[in-house]
Formats: sequence, C-alpha cells, structure tokens
Amino acid sequence: MQLRVIPVTMFQSNCVAVWDEATGEGVLFDTGGEPTRILDFVKSAGIQVKAIFLTHGHVDHVAGTNRVKEALSAPVYLHPLDKELTEHTSRQCLMFGIPIEDAPLVDHDLAEGDRFTFGSLDFSALHLPGHSPGCTAFLFACDKPVLISGDVLFEGSIGRTDLPGGDMEKMRESLGRLKKLPDDIVVVPGHGSKTSIGREKLRNPYLSDRFSMW
Ligand SMILES: [Zn+2]
Ligand SMILES: [Zn+2]
Repeated sequence: MQLRVIPVTMFQSNCVAVWDEATGEGVLFDTGGEPTRILDFVKSAGIQVKAIFLTHGHVDHVAGTNRVKEALSAPVYLHPLDKELTEHTSRQCLMFGIPIEDAPLVDHDLAEGDRFTFGSLDFSALHLPGHSPGCTAFLFACDKPVLISGDVLFEGSIGRTDLPGGDMEKMRESLGRLKKLPDDIVVVPGHGSKTSIGREKLRNPYLSDRFSMW
C-alpha cells in the first residue's frame, strides 16, 4: 500500500492518495483544492482512482472535488449529515478568496462501519461527529494500519467545535473511540504532520483522561 499526502491551498488541507502499487488501483481523500496539482500527481504515479472520499463537508476539504471527479470519472462519498455544510461551498470560496467552486456532487452516502475494498486496499468508515455532524475517519487494515482522521484529530490538537454543526460533547465521545484504538496506528490528519495514536495518547492534552472528564 502506498500513501502520499498532498497539502493543498492556503489552508494546507491534506489531500491523501492511497493506492495498491501492484494493480495501480487507489482512492483519494479530501480533494480540497488545486485540482490540477492533484490530477498531475495521480497521473505521474499511475493511479487508477476508483473513488473519492470526503472526511467532512468544510470548504477546505471539498472545493476541488467536482473537477477531480469529472476528470477521473470517480464516484464521491460523504456522510449525509455534512451535505448541508457543502451547500455553502461557493459562498465560502468567495469569503476566503479562493477559486469559486460549486458544492461537491456526492454519489454515495457514508455510514458508520461501511467497509471498502479496492484491490488489496481494505478500509472501513468510522463516524466521528464533533468537528462537524458527519465527520468520518477511515481505518486501513494492513500490516501498518493507517487512520485518515480528517479534522477530528491533529498532531497535538483536535478540530474546532465552535463552527456551525460543531458539538464538544460529541467530539469528546469521538475522541474516546480513538483512544481505544491500538497505539501503533499511524494517523494522517486533515492538516499538518502525520502522527500515531500512541504518540497522541502521550502528548495530546485532548486525549488525556482529564479531558474526557470535563
Ligand atoms: Zn473542517
Ligand atoms: Zn480543515
């Protein structure tokens, strides 16, 4: 399994490509902007993109989706609870001064426990609300397991809960689920550097037992 992070736009949102080197089959997570750069990478790596997964509906994670989807003829997955957020995509693009894009065209709803296999890739969806109602992370089952965490968990921090649809109580429950995962899982967050569940349990104040009692 190959994985590459492509940080896009001034938001430095992590678009993540994961593919099976033997067959070339792969998927993209969070096509947040700079579609040409994402498509150039896909072409240079020889990836046959089978699907695009959106971790949540915020503009910095979805704004390049329609162009990438159209170029690759790939279906788009998003949790239905975040569809309402995506309706503000073009207004938010205008607000932030980034190229104006329409709301992403979603083909399939995501739900807790959904499992996906593409070639040797095998991963499942975890619904982790709190940063937004439909936040979904993706856990790859392999020798070196990987979690695509979106804006739920960052290195040393967590996603905001004060934006529309945010909910601190739900975030606390979602973090509680992440704390139960094995330490060796590599975490690829929606922004910033890779980390691991074990490292965050040690250093991230939001994964401390004190936080869950607040
Ligand atoms: Zn977000
Ligand atoms: Zn974000």
